[in-house]
Amino acid sequence: MQHIAIVIALAVSVVGVALFVRAVRTIVGVVSLGGPARRNDAPAQRWRNLLVETLGHTRMLQRPLVGAAHWFVFIAFGALFFTLVTAYGQLFEPRFVLPVIGHWLVYAWAAELIAWAGLVAILSLVGVRVAQRGQGRASRFFGSHSGKGVYVELTILGIVLCVLLLRAMEAQLLATGPDPTTRWDFPLTWFLLPAGIGTTALETAIPLVAAAKIVISMAWFVVLGLDTTMGVAWHRFTVWPNVWFKREASGAPALGALPPLRAGGEPVDFDDLDALDEDASLGTGSIEDFTWKGLLDLTSCTECGRCQDACPAWATDKPLSPKLFVMGLRDHAYAKAPWLQTPEDERDALAEPLRLEAARPLVGPNGGGGTGGTGEPDPIVVTGSSVGVIDPDVLWSCTTCGACVQACPVDIEHVDHIVDLRRNQVLMESEFPSSLNGLFKGLETKGNPWNASPRTRMDWAKDLPFPVPVVGGSGEHDVEDLSGVDYLFWVGCAGAYDDRAKLTTRAVAELLHTADVSYAVLGKGETCSGDPARRAGNELVFQQLAAQNTETLRGAGATKVVATCAHCLNTFKNEYPQLGLSMEVVHHTQLLNRLVREGRLTPVPPSAGDGPARTITYHDPCYLGRHNQVYEPPRELLGALPGATVAEMPRNGKESFCCGAGGARMWMEEDLGTRINANRTEEAVATLAAAGAGSAEVPGAIATGCPFCRTMLGDGVDALQGAPAGNVEVLDVAQLLLESVRRGG
Ligand code: SF4
Ligand code: SF4
Repeated sequence: MQHIAIVIALAVSVVGVALFVRAVRTIVGVVSLGGPARRNDAPAQRWRNLLVETLGHTRMLQRPLVGAAHWFVFIAFGALFFTLVTAYGQLFEPRFVLPVIGHWLVYAWAAELIAWAGLVAILSLVGVRVAQRGQGRASRFFGSHSGKGVYVELTILGIVLCVLLLRAMEAQLLATGPDPTTRWDFPLTWFLLPAGIGTTALETAIPLVAAAKIVISMAWFVVLGLDTTMGVAWHRFTVWPNVWFKREASGAPALGALPPLRAGGEPVDFDDLDALDEDASLGTGSIEDFTWKGLLDLTSCTECGRCQDACPAWATDKPLSPKLFVMGLRDHAYAKAPWLQTPEDERDALAEPLRLEAARPLVGPNGGGGTGGTGEPDPIVVTGSSVGVIDPDVLWSCTTCGACVQACPVDIEHVDHIVDLRRNQVLMESEFPSSLNGLFKGLETKGNPWNASPRTRMDWAKDLPFPVPVVGGSGEHDVEDLSGVDYLFWVGCAGAYDDRAKLTTRAVAELLHTADVSYAVLGKGETCSGDPARRAGNELVFQQLAAQNTETLRGAGATKVVATCAHCLNTFKNEYPQLGLSMEVVHHTQLLNRLVREGRLTPVPPSAGDGPARTITYHDPCYLGRHNQVYEPPRELLGALPGATVAEMPRNGKESFCCGAGGARMWMEEDLGTRINANRTEEAVATLAAAGAGSAEVPGAIATGCPFCRTMLGDGVDALQGAPAGNVEVLDVAQLLLESVRRGG
């Protein structure tokens, strides 16, 4: 019996190691198919990031309980390697202990504590998985390969149970003999088995349990070796390079700026286009257009579904799930790789399924369900190679809100990949939602998405009781350039043309004037920052707009900019430096907060005649919060309004829920699922109602700091008006501040 166990354990070990090594070679081969990506700047900082993120589990701990449980499993996975070595020794000698550390009390305590903690942790994770069963789309595991996840969890459970059982048996066996141990050598396991088990029985049982432990461990390597797309297991190895090579050497998630457009892996700009090869592909049009880091991203997905759970498109029944997007691309990458690795003149001889996989378009109709429904293409519509990997409805549902990137524990860069696919669709295929035609036309011909005349850009300032200096204007208060003023006030297209956003622009102008901050605007010298064009994949229009703006800004001598639009702020701050223009860019809530702190603006409480004070809930704009980490200044400002009560929505800060306007979605029809703005507005209204606001007696306000959010939430409130929205207004933080400051005269 013992001999059979030894043979089985060693055989599984040899097969497991061999298959694992082969699979590592396969994965390296697939990742190597990707184009170049330079990710080795600031190596010391990258090592630091790696240690902090892995040992500290900083990204996992965004969900504290699951993160803590995973940390113990992660530690157990590494630390219990010593118990695996011990098990190999016990196959041949039941009294085997590790040389040097085997009888060390520190090792005994550490091994047993980690095994017990690992047991509790894995049971907790199993509990989390079980609790999500039956929730359908609401489960973050919906569409994941749950069978694989359960197998991994059962493996860990089996291993820690074997470790504890082996330690309990060793406690009795080693207590006899020439150098007897004590209970202190097995502090947390000596009591697990009834006393008095005979030596012969123990000497028989220990090699068998050791063999079981080895078989469970090495069978895991066999399974991994046979399944290179088993991300739930492979991430234990791929997460290390994926974190080290993350986009931002600072350790921040891949948010804020989009990477430059690439052709053949190399960044290109507008001026390079004529020099490109005729067959050069812009953006990502096939799986081999990904960089090697992109393919490593796809390989590293654990299928945990945190991104899916956070995605506003998924939450509103649209076909996009960032998890299924990544899984679909990963499966295609690994299925197509053998074709790519075969010399071109030998590809015709490859098997039919492989040729069909290779011929699949990366973006194309896949039956509607596609990567967003059950995770499987709809069998009624699937017709071989015509089925796309990513359905266009999936691709164009994204708001680029970044919630997926923020939530992902292994630093996958979803937004960059989604926009790269859009770039290829727009620039190479001319395929995009027809509703974007109006946006592109307005941007190309009038420099704004509203298709409005540039001559009316200053209409927002009409009838203001103070002058608004314009750079290059001929009025008494206008300025030649920005050398004599503190800030360029960037009004933005929404701030100039949208009636609700104009109120924000006027409020900021009045507050700056009141605080005696010198500023000037560009007037009709402004053109769109280019954000909607870039996020819609139209890099050419973005480059045209950005080139025009950078020339204007340089000519005006802009060094400090204040913007009310979170998208303009993000573009100037994070993307114009790619074009060689770096400026200090602040959001109006940051500047206004500073002015209040410095006493240059004084909020005043409502008096008896002003009506009741407002209860306010703050909506974090994605491009201000997640993309630029501005969370506190608007909250501090609202907190500084005397008499106002501020109530926090359940989804706030880094976990804030999108309004639905980003990623150029503002300009597209929302005809799939339910409306994102309605979902967010209902949460805001419910928050206010829970705080006793929204009635005639206690007015409620949804405050925000971005004109797009304001429009979306305003439309949401309009749709709800009457019950349950009641007396709720959507206002910019600046308007609320102005209302309070004006009370002081
Ligand atoms: S960026 Fe937002 S909308 Fe797009 S996939 Fe990620 S979570 Fe979903
Ligand atoms: S992409 Fe990241 S968050 Fe989403 S399932 Fe994969 S590992 Fe989890």
